[in-house]
Amino acid sequence: MERWVSEVNEGWGLTVNTRNQLCDIRSKYQHIEIFETVNLGKLLMLDGIIQLTSYDEFAYHEMMANLPFYACGHTPERALVIGGGDGGVLRELGRHPELKSIDICEIDAEVIKAAREFLSETACGYDDERVAIHVGDGSRFIQEHPGCYDIIIVDSTDPAGPGEPLFGEKFYAGLKRALKPGGAIGTQAESYFLFPDIARRVVKFAKGLFKNAGFAQIHVPTYPTGVIGCCVASDSECVFAPLRSPDEKLQKELRYYTPEIHRGSFMLPGFARELFER
Ligand code: SAM
Repeated sequence: MERWVSEVNEGWGLTVNTRNQLCDIRSKYQHIEIFETVNLGKLLMLDGIIQLTSYDEFAYHEMMANLPFYACGHTPERALVIGGGDGGVLRELGRHPELKSIDICEIDAEVIKAAREFLSETACGYDDERVAIHVGDGSRFIQEHPGCYDIIIVDSTDPAGPGEPLFGEKFYAGLKRALKPGGAIGTQAESYFLFPDIARRVVKFAKGLFKNAGFAQIHVPTYPTGVIGCCVASDSECVFAPLRSPDEKLQKELRYYTPEIHRGSFMLPGFARELFER
């Protein structure tokens, strides 16, 4: 039976028509739901918030993986993903043979389990033998791994519930400490339409810690407002203008990320540029 499911924000919502609910679990941390939709493939929701649809997840995951990969001042060998339980960022990192290890620290083992059962197109990221899974709080994990990583990607839920500490200043200082010199971070930085204060705050933290930092916009139709940000930061000079780029084979596999989009994603509409300059 068809059913419209909605992510509701203040006074408005985003609605998707579904035909079948594949998963409905209340874990220790959140309400996990996976649906088969009528037009958009699978849909993952956590606590009523859309995390991905098969239709457009490539846009978000390619950018979250590749912005920090190419913003890093050297060829990255060790990557860490915090959150990201659906496996989409792992899948994109896995396209890079240069990476020797890919750690993931996800707080909710039930998300990993549900993704592996029902979201094979993103959870295939776990099949890579370089991936090591750590189940725990990313804000703690980061404090325990100083100087370990070339790139760190924070693919978190919004700052309510378990994701809350991942938007704090102490966590950003921990990210900087966990990087090797010249390393880069890419963090889920919300939408400048929907949560301008959060977006501005995390970019401000990053600007205070790194030589170069900025907000890159990613167009994702099934996130409310259709746009989400990645806060990219590094002490390298490659944040806004990377020196390395995908080879021909990799570029053919990618549908969203290109070197031009990397540079262009930092070009923001006037009001948003002003927000981050404040
Ligand atoms: N792309 C999605 C978005 O922006 O809507 C996020 C997807 S991913 C499923 C988010 C993951 O972050 C969830 O599986 C959640 O369990 C995990 N997470 C939330 N807080 C965390 C924390 N403190 N440490 C590690 N993982 C966390």
